[in-house]
Amino acid sequence: MKRLATPLLVSAALCVAVVLPAHADMDVARLKAAIETSFEADYPKLDALYKELHANPELAFQEVKTAARLAAEMRELGFEVTEKVGRTGLVAIYNNGDGPTIMVRTELDALPMEEKTDLPYASRVKTTWNGKETFVAHSCGHDIHMANWVGTAKTLIGLKEQWQGTLMFIAQPAEEVGAGAMAMLREGLFTRFPKPDFGFALHAIGGFAHGAVLYTVGAGSSAADGLYIKFRGRGGHGAVPQATIDPVMMAARFVVDVQSVISREKDPSEFGVVSIGTIQGGTAANIIPDDVVLVGTIRSFKPEVRARMIAGIERTAKAVAAMSNAPEPLITITEGIKAVINDPGVVATAEKALKAAFGDKLRPIPPVAPSEDYSEFISSGVPSMFFRIGVHEPERVAAARAGEGPPLPANHSPLFAPVPKPTLQTGVTAMTLAVMSVFEQHAQGK
Ligand SMILES: [Zn+2]
Ligand SMILES: [Zn+2]
Repeated sequence: MKRLATPLLVSAALCVAVVLPAHADMDVARLKAAIETSFEADYPKLDALYKELHANPELAFQEVKTAARLAAEMRELGFEVTEKVGRTGLVAIYNNGDGPTIMVRTELDALPMEEKTDLPYASRVKTTWNGKETFVAHSCGHDIHMANWVGTAKTLIGLKEQWQGTLMFIAQPAEEVGAGAMAMLREGLFTRFPKPDFGFALHAIGGFAHGAVLYTVGAGSSAADGLYIKFRGRGGHGAVPQATIDPVMMAARFVVDVQSVISREKDPSEFGVVSIGTIQGGTAANIIPDDVVLVGTIRSFKPEVRARMIAGIERTAKAVAAMSNAPEPLITITEGIKAVINDPGVVATAEKALKAAFGDKLRPIPPVAPSEDYSEFISSGVPSMFFRIGVHEPERVAAARAGEGPPLPANHSPLFAPVPKPTLQTGVTAMTLAVMSVFEQHAQGK
């Protein structure tokens, strides 16, 4: 991986104090202007960092060079950095007097897929994943999050006369496989280090224009459970089906019928999805196999909806097997990632500052279907706000919404490509203001 010659330096511009009135509301307009001035001055280095990370993605728990790069940046800013927390994770602490400890999290990992943008900094990296060679790409925007994380740390250090407390910046591995947050917690994230009083994370989101800051109160992402079903039949010759019990038939029937659990059993106004991602069985055209394995995912926001869906899925699988006079299928549902539930108090505090800074570009949105293991930190007792930032040119979004332009690439699309500068400017400004709003509220003793 290519390295930048020098890590980002603290901007002198920001050290020019922006004096907040004591025990009054934050002067958001002045603070925002100071953040933007600093961002502008430092952007060339942040841009280079982003593009370097984008071009050199690493997969879950393989983020060794990425973590080392971020560790260097944070040490340069004066953070005390501990590496290898949760295998490849980082914890960076900065003490700045009495006050709350606020956590800001980024992810480190990329996806096993081929990038198909024609950006000059597009990834052509390949690696081995589950025994196969694969391309690797930052098609979820975790590279934006990392650059944002470094940019926010830098901005907050530049503003350190304006807040008191402790920053706990963590870089989490393996978000895409839903294992990195838990790995860090198991390796003492909240026991070897201070347990944060509050936490923040952001996510770049396809389909929205840059400049937009989007959030939810309550559930912000879905719960994800794993589904594994093995239909057990009796193999034989494809030309003699009467001597067999055909598990391919059962699998096909199940894949179709299980969708009636979604459309007929679940309340249509409640979110719930079941998708089968892989079907494996058989070896040759004329052999009916002994069994077929289906692996899928179940998504929901509410526990009662989740329970109803799981019951329906199990019943459908058993009924399908019974129809074929087959033995009961093996069904395993593994509880996966929990829903991200934002804390109303943290949201209310940050919302006030973000509204003053972003006006109607700050918008509440409904919960988003993909899951997020940031929920592990929340369920470990860190009241948090997880918000999203838009990534596309506004004209492109307008054209797509009017049906006059191409569809916008979502996260995990091979064409996902945030516009770096305005996306990062919004992210750094929003995250800095959110963190400072909580410090400020604490300082006022509210
Ligand atoms: Zn993702
Ligand atoms: Zn992601």
